[in-house]
Amino acid sequence: MHELSLMTSVLETVRQGALDNDIKQVKKVKLVIGKLSQALPDSLQFAFGVLSQDEMFRGAVLEIEEKDIICLCPDCQNQFAVQDDYSFICPNCQGLKVEIISGRELYIDYFEGDLTDGTD
Ligand SMILES: [Zn+2]
Repeated sequence: MHELSLMTSVLETVRQGALDNDIKQVKKVKLVIGKLSQALPDSLQFAFGVLSQDEMFRGAVLEIEEKDIICLCPDCQNQFAVQDDYSFICPNCQGLKVEIISGRELYIDYFEGDLTDGTD
């Protein structure tokens, strides 16, 4: 399952970042995924639930922001969001050779957590 391996690497990245920043307990992870990234938010939430059982991630929340697919038409410079019908045709000039400029992203926006105790 694509999302499980994806979430494994997301959690590893967050874990490393947390260790680097003396964070003991991660509270929240925010992911940004484009609608073309082929990662389903429901499946990611499921994978997060399965994989976030250890001490560092217990009780953590996964927030997912979905980015629209944005295209640019090189003929008329029109920028438009592709709707759910996945029609990659410029609505302005009906051009077919549009460039996808957003929608494939998949990255960790940020994460939050509690610092290690005893930092005094
Ligand atoms: Zn156009």
